[in-house]
Amino acid sequence: MSLPFVIAVDGPAAAGKGTLARRLAQHLGLPYLDTGLLYRAVGRRALDAGADPADPVAAEAAARTLAPADLERGDLRGPVADAAASKVAAIGGVRAALLDFQRRFGARHGAVLDGRDIGTVVFPEASLKLFVTASPEVRARRRHAELAAKGAAPSLDQVARDMADRDARDANRGVAPLRPAEDAKLLDTSALDADAVFEIALSWAVAAQKAT
Ligand code: C5P
Repeated sequence: MSLPFVIAVDGPAAAGKGTLARRLAQHLGLPYLDTGLLYRAVGRRALDAGADPADPVAAEAAARTLAPADLERGDLRGPVADAAASKVAAIGGVRAALLDFQRRFGARHGAVLDGRDIGTVVFPEASLKLFVTASPEVRARRRHAELAAKGAAPSLDQVARDMADRDARDANRGVAPLRPAEDAKLLDTSALDADAVFEIALSWAVAAQKAT
């Protein structure tokens, strides 16, 4: 059976992919899945169990028993959840346990999914693949402003260091490393606001829909 219309939005942290993916989904009437939340929830469950999120046995157990309510918890954002997510995400068994859920989500009615490996692993046959990036400085400033708005910001330097660590873990891991799919459209958002990014991506999505 052929895949319904799926848009894969990949890229590093704070590049603007979540905002873009949500807007595309809303505009096109498609379900939206923030796949980072799955890894964040697994990381949190490993921490709850008193385990190191980098421990494959504990992390895989947390991934295999993940429940929808785990995605609703209020502590999935912030530096601790960021680091735990990128540690469990480097474990092959965790990724395998989450793969089916993501595929079923997209295959049902089509979807927009954002993450790190949607275009390369989860939906290599997606109708449109976007790789959204921005310079490390711009991304660190955006994430710092986001945290400051919530009232608990570490220094800009600390945010930049945490982000560089996470980028390195995501890009250098052995399974599903962060990289653009060969046929992904690259979108550098360093000098663009969210509206401009959305307009560019929407024009690609409309063209992809016509071609499907
Ligand atoms: O996108 P977000 O920053 O919420 O993702 C948190 C972490 O989850 C990432 O740093 C990455 O390690 C992992 N992740 C992943 N594959 C995805 C989505 C997220 O490895 N598809």
